[in-house]
Formats: sequence, C-alpha cells, structure tokens
Amino acid sequence: MMKEQLAIDGGQPLRTAPFPQWPIFDEKEERLVLEVLHSGNWGILSGDKVNTFEQRFAEFQGAQFATCVPNGTLALEMALRALGIGPGDEVITTPYTFIATASAALMVGAKPVFVDIDLQSYNIDPAKIEAAVTERTKAIMPVHLAGRPADLDAILDIAKRHNLKVVEDACQAWGSEWQGHRVGAIGDLGAFSFQASKNITAGEGGAVVTNDPELHEMCWSLHNVGRVPTGAWYQHERIGWNLRMTEWQGAVLLAQLERLSEATKIRDANARYLMEALDGVVGLTPLPEDPRVTRHSRHLFIMRYESEAFGGHSRNAFMQALRAEGIEPCSAGYVPLYRSPAIAATLAEGEGDPSAYPATEVAAEQTVWLFQYALLGDRTDMDTIVDAVLKIQRAWA
Ligand SMILES: *Cc1c(COP(=O)(O)O)cnc(C)c1O
Repeated sequence: MMKEQLAIDGGQPLRTAPFPQWPIFDEKEERLVLEVLHSGNWGILSGDKVNTFEQRFAEFQGAQFATCVPNGTLALEMALRALGIGPGDEVITTPYTFIATASAALMVGAKPVFVDIDLQSYNIDPAKIEAAVTERTKAIMPVHLAGRPADLDAILDIAKRHNLKVVEDACQAWGSEWQGHRVGAIGDLGAFSFQASKNITAGEGGAVVTNDPELHEMCWSLHNVGRVPTGAWYQHERIGWNLRMTEWQGAVLLAQLERLSEATKIRDANARYLMEALDGVVGLTPLPEDPRVTRHSRHLFIMRYESEAFGGHSRNAFMQALRAEGIEPCSAGYVPLYRSPAIAATLAEGEGDPSAYPATEVAAEQTVWLFQYALLGDRTDMDTIVDAVLKIQRAWA
C-alpha cells in the first residue's frame, strides 16, 4: 500500500469540518444585552448586571466576595496592590504562564521571582519554592495552568511558614477544584479572566475573589477610584484606578455563567475520552491526571511531543502538519517568561538563566496543546485528532 500523503505535502487533509466556533451564545446574551441598552443603565453606578454577576460568580467559586474589573491582567495587579505589595517586594511565580502573571508584579513595582515547574502538572514545583524565598518575598502567585489547580496544600503550607500571601492566578480555572474546594479564594485573593479565548467570556473582563472582608473592601475601593463603600461621592481615601466593568460585560457574563457548568462537563468528558484514545500513541502524551484535582476547567489540553517517535521531526513541524490535517485549534504553548524580551530586560545579571529551569525548558520544547473549544465537539471530533496524529506518525515513520 502506498503511504498516505500528508496534507502538508499536498495530500488531502484528514479533516475539513471546522471545530465548534467560539464564543457560544444564544438568546440569553441577546436578551440581557438589550435589557442593558434599553434601561439606559450602561455603567455599574446605576445598573445591577455586574453587581449580580459578582454575587453569582463569587458563589460559583465558593468565595464570599468578587469584584469585577476590565480584564484578568488588571485583576492580578489589583490583587497585589490590595495586599500592599510594591517596590522592593518579591513575588514568587512560574515562568511557564502568560506574561500578565509576571507583568502584574512589575506593574506594582515588585519583582517576579521565577521557580521552575513540575512537568507532571506544568504548575509551579512546590519542592523548589522555599529555596527562592528571601526576606523581600511577600507573596507566592501560583498559576492554575490549563485549569488544573497548583498544589495549594504545599503552597499554603510554605506561605504560612514564611508569612507570605498567596494570590492565585486562576485566569484559566473557572470552577476548578483542589481537593473539593473551588480555587480563587483558597489563597488570600484569586484573579480570573473573561477574555475572548476563555471558557466564559465577555470579550474582555476579569474578577478578583476573596473570603476576606477587608481585602474585599480594599479591592472595591481600588477599582472605584479610592472611594469607600459608605463614603461620599467625592470622598477618596486612597489613590485607586477606575477599573469598573461595564454593564454590557456583566450582562453577557450572566448568560455565559449559566452555560459554564454544562460546557465544563462536555470538555471534561471529551478530555477523558481523548486521554484514553491517546494512551496507545507513542510520543504524544497527555499530562497525567491528579486525584487531588477534583474538577478541572479544561481550558487547555496539554500534551508532550517526543520527536523520536515521529521520525525526528521537530515539534513545530508536527504542529504545522497537524494544522494542515485540519486540527486547527492547537498551539506550541508559552515561551518561558525569562526568555521573553520584556521580562528578561527587568532581570538582573545571572537571573533567568535557562539552566535554572530544566522542566520549563522541556515544556517549551515539547508542548502541544489544544484550546478549550476543541473539546466542545463530539467523540468524532476527538477521533479525528487521534487519527491525524497517527496519520502523521505513519508518514514520518
Ligand atoms: C488570560 C490570562 C491572564 C490575563 O487575562 P486577560 O483577561 O487576558 O488580561 C493572566 N494569566 C493567565 C494564566 C491567563 O491565562
């Protein structure tokens, strides 16, 4: 039999049907947005959509309080400022994340200190945190990458021993649970994003959740130009931002939140099916599951690619071949932040040496991930992903 020709070499793509389109919306979003339009209450000072969403989202995360802001990046900055973190302070975090995690520390004048990841989870390696603690360390900022919670038991334990705050970057972890508890307010504060690619979205948007009434009041004040809840209109007790979310976003998010639990079940079932289907595929390995993760938002489906199993072809060549076969919703993942010019420019001599981050370097080289909307299809969609991988592997054998 002749070898099938890969689409990248001019053959027929294995799949031509598109994956589910993102975002998903229906009359619920339409009705609520029109309600805002006709009410004339377009901002939170007169409307109730953002307020209602804050209550529902806090409840959804098992937190007492939520404050909505324009995006996840600002949510992280506001969380750090609410804790009083600023110039001279250090914040321990992971280099394998979106730039906002580290830029948030820099934006408040603090310094991000990177600790390598654990390749089993792609989250910060708790065993390596303590060596990075100095007298300037004020907080640990774990990222729940892909929606898989970081080891919060170990992180909270270290934080307690060194008197550090914990800010959860939960920007990919809506509804995710660590040992039965939803993330965000397990630490002192948690930041969420509702940007266009996220599992729940208003195009842009973010929130900070907490169980601490004082921290909540500080967040509320910081996002509302330093006002205080019981104060007069022109009474500003501190320098804050205007980080108020619009009612349009609140309206869309109220509708999106109603769809989130059902959609998470679909993503989860497809992720599990795909994991099993990939079990027999040598050289493309999903991250192992962790029983302590009792709910996973499945924002990303992370796999590791080994070129030896694909005739020595590079990860990037594989990505191109996979896309050409019609598996479009995939990515090679993050560039480690110490390699990002913007962040590298802020590091001192000797900091950010890649040899200090062996696991992150492997992740940067071997990662292939699928985006959340790829997991919203049916079993056939999952089968075509596996079939495309096998087709490429046969052609490159
Ligand atoms: C999306 C994201 C952010 C930033 O959120 P924006 O709403 O895009 O500003 C921060 N951290 C992580 C891990 C993210 O995935």
